[in-house]
Amino acid sequence: MARYTGPVCRLCRRERTKLFLKGQRCDTSKCPVSGDPNDRGKRAFPPGEHGRDRMRQGSEYLAQLREKQKARRIYGVLERQFVNLYEEATRQPGITGENLLRMLELRLDNVAFRASWGASRSQARQLVNHGHIRVNGKRVTIASYRLRVGDAVSLSDAAGELVVLRHNLDTLDRQPPSWLEWHENRRSVTVLRVPERADMDESIREQLIVELYSK
Ligand code: SF4
Repeated sequence: MARYTGPVCRLCRRERTKLFLKGQRCDTSKCPVSGDPNDRGKRAFPPGEHGRDRMRQGSEYLAQLREKQKARRIYGVLERQFVNLYEEATRQPGITGENLLRMLELRLDNVAFRASWGASRSQARQLVNHGHIRVNGKRVTIASYRLRVGDAVSLSDAAGELVVLRHNLDTLDRQPPSWLEWHENRRSVTVLRVPERADMDESIREQLIVELYSK
């Protein structure tokens, strides 16, 4: 399964906003986008030799492109997969942009992240890939697996021994969204309903993504 393996803070700097791709480090002074200028912070300009030159006001197309890239990077989805999701979203009833975000939210790796099992979506994805997550009691190792209403997602017995998982459950001060319900001491969640727009990332302007792909 293909995924981006380069430095992730570059992605935030490129979008000039925090995408929270590094877990707890994102809330520290080390964050290049918002951190302390004396502690590697405050590099909130695009990476590269000419990064500062890219601070100019862009075109409408550029705004649409950046919004699509931002959404893709937040959820860790590559371009081909994202296009496929968009095409599926256009075939569904309802608002295309919301359909797209809903499908991204219902990915198994995202639910593992929302359940505080992973500090970041990439860490949550690793838990899935390594077989630590069960869906309705069955081991699922596909990060993009789409959950349905009523699905029960739980940790394997072996996952309970993982130091990183125990650390995340002890330290992450994150409540699951209202469409998920925690059980068994936060070691399993149930999908209560499909997420509404208000439950999803408000910083993403999905209409711009739809405009980009509708050209
Ligand atoms: Fe983005 Fe987190 Fe890196 Fe800050 S620390 S730039 S929010 S990935």
